[in-house]
Amino acid sequence: MNTTTPHGMIGSVTPNDHWQYERAPMIVYWELTNACDLACRHCRATAMPEAAPGELTTAEAVAVLDQVVEFGEPTPHVTMTGGDPLKRPDLLTLLDAAHERGLGVSLAPAVTPLLTKERLAEVQQHGVQAISLSLDGATAEFHDGLRGVPGTFDHTMEALEWAADLGLNVQVNTLVSAGNLHEIEQVFALLSTKTLMRWSLFFLISVGRGSELTELTPDAAENLMRQAAAWGRTAPFQVRTTEAPSSRRVTAQTMMNRGMPRTAVEATPFARSFGIRDGNGIVFISHQGDVTPSGFMPLPLGNVKSDRLADIYQGNSTMMALRDPDQFKGRCGRCEFNHWCGGSRARAFAWTGDPLQTDPLCGYQPSGSQTSGNHLRGHQPRQTQAPGTATQEGTSA
Ligand code: SF4
Repeated sequence: MNTTTPHGMIGSVTPNDHWQYERAPMIVYWELTNACDLACRHCRATAMPEAAPGELTTAEAVAVLDQVVEFGEPTPHVTMTGGDPLKRPDLLTLLDAAHERGLGVSLAPAVTPLLTKERLAEVQQHGVQAISLSLDGATAEFHDGLRGVPGTFDHTMEALEWAADLGLNVQVNTLVSAGNLHEIEQVFALLSTKTLMRWSLFFLISVGRGSELTELTPDAAENLMRQAAAWGRTAPFQVRTTEAPSSRRVTAQTMMNRGMPRTAVEATPFARSFGIRDGNGIVFISHQGDVTPSGFMPLPLGNVKSDRLADIYQGNSTMMALRDPDQFKGRCGRCEFNHWCGGSRARAFAWTGDPLQTDPLCGYQPSGSQTSGNHLRGHQPRQTQAPGTATQEGTSA
């Protein structure tokens, strides 16, 4: 999860808040539609070519923006995702409505023939501050194989150039699984020749079509987290991780091993990411209005058609528990880093059915822990994609 919008921090918290985002999320991920012309093997939204029944109407969607405003100042940033948000016929109307309400907006378009330089210029004119693009391999053969459509890799490279020409900020999202771990260094080398604001390594959670892919082992994940931190020190763009909050623990441990006290770590710019995770600083709205802690946790806690988004975010008991590491279980409950990290609640839910359990991507043994090894490894994640629901966010921003 990223902690900054194209224009900096929104609603950031401090150590005094115990890194708990009680008032408002920093980012509202909003799945405008689950319609998409791609058929990616790892699609969170199990997207389909045409919009599903029950998609929010234009009036309902504008009302969602009013609900985001109700969080008060500073208002959350809105990331419009999908499916493919370019498939929403009223996209420009919604962008204008967001702009009128003073909301910052990013867009996560799919790379299909709908994505053109003219379309990018148009959404930029209607207030889009940044876009995200997916790139999961360093070659057309690899990337197009995952995306299911030949030409997607080349089109993505073109879109990067268009955005650079337009001065539009770009975040590139790379899904990391055991199947493409060997590609990641080459993806970094490729992106180093491009213009982008941020590269985010999204650590796979086995939900939706992603369940066909395999998550990294804790050791492989930690090695990549260290490598990502090293790349971030020299890259001409920010390097971030998504659904891998234990990367904060990895970096913090490095600092503390060099003699930095916890208070000094909390005073570094790096600490701005502390606490952000599913339900804490982040909330997700599905194309049908279901509200979940994030796009990768199919756990509807209300619906914007009948409930206020702020009421769900601030007052739902599950949402409140997700913000409170003292309620976490297993190693994440005992961990001395849990206010900074807290683990991926979505992955804990995917693997155990309990969003407060240990994040199985992390192999850390907290002080005093009696557990040896990762007791969850060797088991398969439970099936978390409920039939008929598509409640996960995109991998954007
Ligand atoms: S045990 Fe949990 S809280 Fe501690 S570093 Fe690992 S994922 Fe984070």
